[in-house]
Amino acid sequence: MKQYFHSVRLDKEQCKGCTNCIKRCPTEAIRVRDGKARIIEELCVDCGECIRTCPNHAKIAVEDSLDKLNDFKYRIALPAPSFYGQFDSKHTLDEILEALIMIGFDDVFEVALAAEVVTRGINNYLQENQSLKPLISQACPAVVGLIQVRFPLLLEHIIPIDSPMNMAAMYAKRNAFSKGYAPQEVGTFFITPCPGKITAIRQPAAKNHVYVDGAISISTIYGQVLKHIKDLKGNRKLQKASGLGIGWGSSGGEIKALKHGTKLAVDGIQNVINVLEQVEKGELRDIAYLECQACQGGCIGGSLVAKNPFLARVRIDQLVSKGTNPQLEHFLETVDLSHCLLKGDFQPRKVRNLDDNLAEALVKMEKLERTLEELPGLDCSSCGCPNCRALAEDIVKGLAFETDCVFKLRKQVEILAEEVLKLARKVPPAMGQRNSE
Ligand code: SF4
Ligand code: SF4
Repeated sequence: MKQYFHSVRLDKEQCKGCTNCIKRCPTEAIRVRDGKARIIEELCVDCGECIRTCPNHAKIAVEDSLDKLNDFKYRIALPAPSFYGQFDSKHTLDEILEALIMIGFDDVFEVALAAEVVTRGINNYLQENQSLKPLISQACPAVVGLIQVRFPLLLEHIIPIDSPMNMAAMYAKRNAFSKGYAPQEVGTFFITPCPGKITAIRQPAAKNHVYVDGAISISTIYGQVLKHIKDLKGNRKLQKASGLGIGWGSSGGEIKALKHGTKLAVDGIQNVINVLEQVEKGELRDIAYLECQACQGGCIGGSLVAKNPFLARVRIDQLVSKGTNPQLEHFLETVDLSHCLLKGDFQPRKVRNLDDNLAEALVKMEKLERTLEELPGLDCSSCGCPNCRALAEDIVKGLAFETDCVFKLRKQVEILAEEVLKLARKVPPAMGQRNSE
């Protein structure tokens, strides 16, 4: 049985084994074997980099279909803040939300609204917990996965505050129950910019309770919204969130309203890796809070969005500039912030080591270094590994051969060819002078 759920999958038919994806994977979770990409399940963090990179559309995200709405009597859409960035200013947020209802939802609950609650939860937590620095946001599941795989010592830095997505689903369900619906009748569906969120719904990193029942990508639903938005009368008042929560859709939005200590926002998975390496070395202790988002530009740059992220940022910035909504204050004053606290811990992933036995692992490490010295160091990926070091590691683990390296293979062929030539030059004794070799 598979230990990890992943939204990111391979469409084997489409894969040409071109190796483009293996070079971009931030956790070196892909190998190409027998002409097809393979995902190493304990290393994949569902960041979506390979979906963006694959020229053959062979990497896909498994999401729920709109048919799943039929499993519930009362269906609630939970649009991500980045969803608003997909539409230009000729459509009001009320129209966008009403179009979701026309698609088949009965209600909407904006994740941006829950983001404003979470902002307060983070502010409280930062005020009360100042000894461990920096605390790291847990809103981006790809970053949480990255920490589980590559930076397990930093797991205690992840702030135990739930995501706006899950908080929105919790409030949406409570509203539905107060209208008389039974728990099994209510379905909440996150409109997601990325596969990471789909995975977080199916298999949450902190093993907390998940209130979201399904996820549909922004790219899937975008066309449907555009189709229905044309026929709207636009007279329903559905928007409640303000610029503060909507800002979470792009990089820097989360830290905007944090009051305590120095904050830093980092976006793009390679930049996040660089900063986490610094945190691991103890270099960023003057930073109180780190907002880390795997996608360039934040969630507007997710691999399942419909619009160019630069244009989406313009729209999000416009909405943020409208500021806070005073009517929201009453709602925010009534929420119990203790509900934001996560109950479960973040655990490291069980990544396959060189060996479980320390002495054996040291021997294998030496072998790895010797093997690596013998490889050309070109990191060309023709062997199906992301770089020479990964091939050396796979060889030591017994998962690959030296001759998987094309240069090593050529060397072997040259040696063989010389042997064959030598043999070919040999003359049988009956036909000539006996060769002394
Ligand atoms: S990028 Fe990866 S998944 Fe796409 S065709 Fe190349 S090897 Fe296959
Ligand atoms: S930055 Fe946003 S869209 Fe990208 S992986 Fe993280 S949560 Fe998903």
